[in-house]
Amino acid sequence: MTATTRTAVERLAPDRLFIGGEWVDARSGARLATYHPATGELVAEVAEAREEDVDAAVAAARAAFDAGPWPRLDAADRAELLWKLADAIAADADRLARLEVLDTGKPIREAQIDLRETVDAFRYYAGWATKLHGQTIPVRGAVLNYTLREPVGVVGAIIPWNFPLLMAAWKVAPALACGNAVVLKPAEQTPLTALELAALAARVGLPPGVLNVVPGYGETAGAALVRHPGVDKIAFTGSTAVGRQIGQLVAGTDKALTLELGGKAANIIFEDAALDQAVEGIVNGIYFNQGEVCCAGSRLLVQESVVDVVIEKLKDRLATLRVGDPLDKNTDVGAINSRAQLEKIEELVASGVAEGAEIYQPACQLPERGYFFRPTLFTNVAQSHRIAREEIFGPVLSVLTFRTPDEAIEKANNTEYGLSAGIWTEKGSRILEMARRLRAGVVWANTYNKFDPTSPFGGYKESGFGREGGLHGLLAYVRLEDR
Ligand code: NAP
Ligand code: MG
Repeated sequence: MTATTRTAVERLAPDRLFIGGEWVDARSGARLATYHPATGELVAEVAEAREEDVDAAVAAARAAFDAGPWPRLDAADRAELLWKLADAIAADADRLARLEVLDTGKPIREAQIDLRETVDAFRYYAGWATKLHGQTIPVRGAVLNYTLREPVGVVGAIIPWNFPLLMAAWKVAPALACGNAVVLKPAEQTPLTALELAALAARVGLPPGVLNVVPGYGETAGAALVRHPGVDKIAFTGSTAVGRQIGQLVAGTDKALTLELGGKAANIIFEDAALDQAVEGIVNGIYFNQGEVCCAGSRLLVQESVVDVVIEKLKDRLATLRVGDPLDKNTDVGAINSRAQLEKIEELVASGVAEGAEIYQPACQLPERGYFFRPTLFTNVAQSHRIAREEIFGPVLSVLTFRTPDEAIEKANNTEYGLSAGIWTEKGSRILEMARRLRAGVVWANTYNKFDPTSPFGGYKESGFGREGGLHGLLAYVRLEDR
């Protein structure tokens, strides 16, 4: 396959911003380029939104919300339109998955999972549009007291590069189901599927201004969206450092805020676990999407009595992982998203070696071009090591051990993060006890990285606040107004 045919995926969306139902250039004329991480080839150049473009997008969203048909539409009609959008995404899933691979470097098989989950999210939230009930309240006196669930207004959605379309769906689907208008800023590295989403939304008849897409940089377009007085809510997914800055900017304003941030999840294997199944789950938990996953199971806690056998099984399994061309359907681990991310991973891995942990990497052949990193396993890791504390956001697993359930809990909770955790044991009562004591928003047992739009997802501690998915994810986009 030649370089040009490889990156040539037909695109519906022009290389422009989508504002008020029109495809427009950035006022400044600025453009940003996106590259395929597996080769470094240019995929596309798109208009780069700056503050004045964000102003225009917020104005369009304001007009759509304050005076347009969308929030006033019958809920059943909003539901129908969201369902049509889901159908349009499903019909176009192969093309969109390929585009996602070109922008992110993730394996095509995993991009196809993203597409299925994206369609699921739109269908699930389409169903909620007609089920946003308020309550009647038995107050004293001859009064009718009731609550209404009303949309918050204009939502500024800011998303990362690891699951571009899925993270857009997790915000756009519930926001639109409730009747909000959205300004979506995709990550600078991965703007393409957000633009495609806008093109499909326009095709199925979403009114102008209800969904606006403004690719751009965080420091300019993202910050302008966060500061904008015309925005009623910020929904952010990204790093804890940026989330903290956004929290400070929003504090003291009347904006609503949800933050989905980083993680340093522990997967805990007890000696009675089904070890082969556990090892499979651990591998999926850390090497899925090259480990560029907020809930990646990046710390493995193994009960001491089985640590040798677990490490042996892990090494055997690692040796079978196919690292390489993300467009190849047999690839398990694709390319790291960017040179900057690769360098961050390399630096943290070097710190692990320097601090005395023992490194294992299978002897697989890496492609000559592109940003690739071998699946990596560290043993002899101490809790004080940087690789046991910091989010690496790469295919790197740190193995620690424990003797008792109390020690497992103590170590698992010994992190500033609290997004997710995993437990592997055949003992039901242990699962329930551990799930209660782990300070994590999501706890999986005998499975990992399992997502469903019906179930809330989100963090404790420095992993953020608010939930996406399920009813909780829906209620993040309404105000409860008493009348
Ligand atoms: P990031 O640098 O925080 O970026 C996330 C988004 O915020 C991008 O669109 C970014 O724009 C934008 N941004 C950057 N600075 C900003 C600012 N000052 N004001 C407003 N927006 C700003 O994170 P990332 O490196 O793209 O993504 C990796 C992180 O996301 C990891 O820490 C991961 O754990 C977290 N994550 C969390 C979840 C979750 O659900 N909890 C899911 C996925 C990822 P640019 O593209 O220009 O940087
Ligand atoms: Mg960034």
